[in-house]
Amino acid sequence: MDLFGETSDWEIKLKPILKKYKGKKHPLEYENTYQLLVMVILSAQDSDANINNIAPILFEKYPTLKSISKTDLETFTSYITKVRNHSTKAKWILEIANTIKEDKDIPLTMNGLTALKGVGRKSANVILRETNKPAEGIIADLHVIRVAPRIGIVKENKDGNKIEKDLMQALPKNIWSEIGMAISFLGRETCRPKPKCPECLLNDICLYYIPKYLKINYFLLVSII
Ligand code: SF4
Repeated sequence: MDLFGETSDWEIKLKPILKKYKGKKHPLEYENTYQLLVMVILSAQDSDANINNIAPILFEKYPTLKSISKTDLETFTSYITKVRNHSTKAKWILEIANTIKEDKDIPLTMNGLTALKGVGRKSANVILRETNKPAEGIIADLHVIRVAPRIGIVKENKDGNKIEKDLMQALPKNIWSEIGMAISFLGRETCRPKPKCPECLLNDICLYYIPKYLKINYFLLVSII
């Protein structure tokens, strides 16, 4: 059940963003699954742009997981010092490299990925989507946490895992693989902290915008329903 108190046909309502963003590559500029895994771990609490900046030199030095397994922590860390929480992330990545060793053995399931240090459900969902594996959840990053409640799909919550769980209840499984990233792209481009509603593809179905359009207070409406 959603914020409208009913099971809305979200697949139809969200079609404009599903159509616009379907298959659009994640902003992390990776070239293979190994690079994607490392960059997803590095990007936690940091920006994709910052990770894209340090990636070319990092991957020139370390082209495979095996090359990381042969290095030492201090040397590896020296390549990621501009990344937030780099010490902890370096330890995680070295541990993963020492455990998995070969790029081809990177597990591409929710259970396999979340068993790795530094990989939570959000990261695992991103990796499964980018590698075209069946969705086992819905990406709930900072943008989705902000935008999905505005649209009216789920209630506000700061906890990404709770937002993901509510999204999985509200949305049909056949759109899980694309909808998280589509909402994330909408959040990056249009539904910014200060949203650009007049130009938004969802402004005819959005709970946040329609009351404004009708000059009804959004928060009053949410408290009523
Ligand atoms: S209409 Fe406004 S609040 Fe709603 S999703 Fe679009 S930009 Fe965000």
